[in-house]
Order: sequence, then structure tokens, then C-alpha cells
Amino acid sequence: MAGSITIFLDKCNGCTLCVEACPFDAIHIANKKAVIDMAKCTFCGACVESCEFNAIELKEDACVKQDLSRYKDVWVFCEQKKGVIQSISFELLGEGRKLADKLGVKLCAVLLGSAVESRIAELSERGAEKIYFVDHPALAAFQDDPYTEVLVKLAQEYAPEIILCGATTIGRSLVSRVAVRINAGLTADCTGLDIDEKERLLLQTRPAFGGNIMATIITPNHRPQMATVRHKVMKEAATDKSRTAEVIRKSYPEEVMKSRTRLAGIVAEIEETVNLAEADIVVSGGRGLGGPENFAMIRELAKTLNAAVGASRAAVDADWIPYSHQVGQTGKTVCPKLYIACGISGQIQHLIGMQSSKVIVAINKDPDAPIFKIATYGIIGDLFQVVPALTKEFKRVLNR
Ligand SMILES: Cc1cc2nc3c(=O)[nH]c(=O)nc-3n(C[C@H](O)[C@H](O)[C@H](O)COP(=O)(O)OP(=O)(O)OC[C@H]3O[C@@H](n4cnc5c(N)ncnc54)[C@H](O)[C@@H]3O)c2cc1C
Repeated sequence: MAGSITIFLDKCNGCTLCVEACPFDAIHIANKKAVIDMAKCTFCGACVESCEFNAIELKEDACVKQDLSRYKDVWVFCEQKKGVIQSISFELLGEGRKLADKLGVKLCAVLLGSAVESRIAELSERGAEKIYFVDHPALAAFQDDPYTEVLVKLAQEYAPEIILCGATTIGRSLVSRVAVRINAGLTADCTGLDIDEKERLLLQTRPAFGGNIMATIITPNHRPQMATVRHKVMKEAATDKSRTAEVIRKSYPEEVMKSRTRLAGIVAEIEETVNLAEADIVVSGGRGLGGPENFAMIRELAKTLNAAVGASRAAVDADWIPYSHQVGQTGKTVCPKLYIACGISGQIQHLIGMQSSKVIVAINKDPDAPIFKIATYGIIGDLFQVVPALTKEFKRVLNR
């Protein structure tokens, strides 16, 4: 929120309560009176609440409205790892296309990296009409400081209406920092996006209250409107090799590329099977497995089907399998062609991460388990009998 803030000098006694309360380090005491640094103040109101002497007034009715009309275009931050554009970027370009068309603006991609020029064509083929491209060795692998600085500078110069980013580890870390710096709203973890065409607002839908309701969030007063979007929820943009894009190459002083952290190395997780978020088939195990050793059964079925291994949070919390396998609200969202849930009850937080799978097979000994409500096929039985029997049969049929 923007507004006006006033210190009543006759009431202020320099007690420093507001200094301590300010999350933005925007207040100091001079001559025993509070002084607000307007460059840092976000009008959050924390100081007003902390003041015991009614010495600070925040006027909301004097809201200084941002000039929203200068903001245009839909931007997609295109994540790359080791120079390879991540598939979430193509999903965002697919969704971004729809939003840009509804707003009648351009769809733009932002690509940061080192020696990734050859990837530009992939982005135009997926529908980006403009590509903001910054190439620098400091941007080879993601680092918070230089990536944030560069995206902030681009957003300040070109004023996008919307910025979309994957709700990935990188995306979450990056755009939250950018949003704070440019005083923009940010909705994390969206599962649906649309446009209110009358108001030109981005409708950002995400699960709330433990997934029990879907909340649609708008950002009426600030630009850009920023959202991170879950992987595998949106469809990838189709490829059209005839498309070309305008490329805007930017370079920044070395100062911008500085980082307070040093990347010591990147250790790839050893995946015995295929990547969970990308997999066409996922076999997941839950508390019903009874112990870590029984995940061997899940891995065996997954290997037979060339599938990825997933897990419920109960199994992860019990340390039976690493967190990277967790499916659900606080884990990964998957959307495979086939999801096989073994010994998973089907609590809402798990369902959020897998319910859009095309075919869901649930194996559970409890006929009333909630997972059966969303399952395409339910097998009521003991997983210790059902899973090995399935593996055996698949091995026979698939000749593996
Ligand atoms: C804020 C929040 C976020 C959360 N995020 C997630 C998340 O991201 N992902 C997630 O999964 N959970 C999440 N949870 C936890 C979630 O609420 C459940 O506790 C969890 O999903 C339960 O895991 P489960 O189904 O493996 O275990 P349980 O609910 O204990 O179910 C085990 C199932 O196994 C069956 N079973 C037992 N033995 C056998 C057998 N021999 N053969 C066949 N079936 C058998 C039982 O009938 C039962 O249905 C979250 C919770 C909260 C509060």
C-alpha cells in the first residue's frame, strides 16, 4: 500500500518503539524525534501499531496510486539449469500466451545465463515475441543476488504488467526478492491464472487453508502483478519453428553481478529412477508401507514401469525416503499419465499434488480410504500382496 505518513513531533518522545517495530529499517531517531526514511518506508503501518503515544499517523485515504497505464506486456522468467531451459518455462509461455492475448499485449521471455544464446530460438518457437536476454558468467547458475538485481533492473526499465515465474526452488527464491524490491504484489504457488478483462487484472488462483478452498487473488494497486506457478499444472506452449522474436540484449556493470554468497558446487541428487516432476508414470508409497525397507517394493514396480518414485509426507517425515520425493501441498505437484498410490490414505494435502493425474490407481486395505474417491481404479487389498503381484505381471507383459 502507498499513502502518507506523519510524525506528530509534539507527541513523539523518541522512545524508539517504532524504530524496533519497523521491518524495513526505515526509522531512526534524531534530536529525540522519530524520522522516517521515505525511500525505505512501505507504509506497512507496523510503526503506527507500535507507537504508544499516537504520534504516528498513516493516511490510507491519501493513497498515492501508481500510474498503472505505463505497465504493459506479460513476462515469463525462463529458468535454465546448465544452459537447458526448464520445462516449467514452456508451461508458463503456454499460459502467458493466453493472458497476453486477453490483454492485447506482447508475451515476453526473460533469459539470464552464461553462453545460453543458442537457447533463444527455443523461446521464440514457444511463442515469446520479445526476449530480454542478459549473458554474464555470474549468471551461469542461479544465485540470489545477481539474478535479483538484473530482474529488478529489467522490470524497472521496461515496466511489465505481469511477471510469471515457476514455483520452483529458484523461482520462489528469486521473485519474492524482486517483488519486495519493486514494491509489487506476489501470489505464490498458483494453480490457475486468468484475466479480468474489464479491470485488466490478473486473477491468481491458489489453494488456501490447507487446500480446502481455492482463493483467487488480485493485485489492483501495484504493478507488475507477480505470480509463481506450480509445475505440471499448465500445458506447455506448442512449438512453431517459424516464429522469431525481437531480442533485447542488456548488459550491466560488474557491480550488479556481485553476490554475497559463493556457489561452492552443485551436487545432483542421485535418481535411481526417472525425475518425479517430469515422469509419465509415478508410483508412490505412504505410511502403509510400514518402514523404509519396503520402499524397495515401490522402486521395483517403478523400475519395471520406467516410472518415478513418489511418497506421502508421512513417509518422508518418518525418514523413509528423501523430501525430494514428496508429492503434495508442501511437496511436488505431479501430473503423470498414471499415478499409482500404495498405502496412501488420500488426505487433501496429498491430493493437491496429484489429483490432476490422468489415471489414478489406489491400493489400500481400507475400503473407506479417501483416496478411492478420486481414484480411477481402486484395489482394496494388502499392498504387500498387490504390489509384488502387479510388478510380476507387468514384468511378464512388458518383457522386463
Ligand atoms: C500444512 C500441511 C501440509 C502437508 N503437506 C503434505 C504433502 O505435501 N504431501 C502429503 O502427502 N501430505 C501432506 N500433509 C500430511 C497429510 O495431511 C497426511 O498426514 C499424509 O498425506 C498422510 O500420509 P499417508 O497417506 O501415507 O499416511 P496415512 O494417512 O497414515 O495413511 C496410510 C494408509 O495406508 C493404508 N495401509 C496401511 N497398511 C496397508 C497395507 N498393508 N496395504 C494397503 N494399505 C495399507 C491405510 O489404510 C491408510 O489409508 C500435510 C499436512 C499439513 C498439515
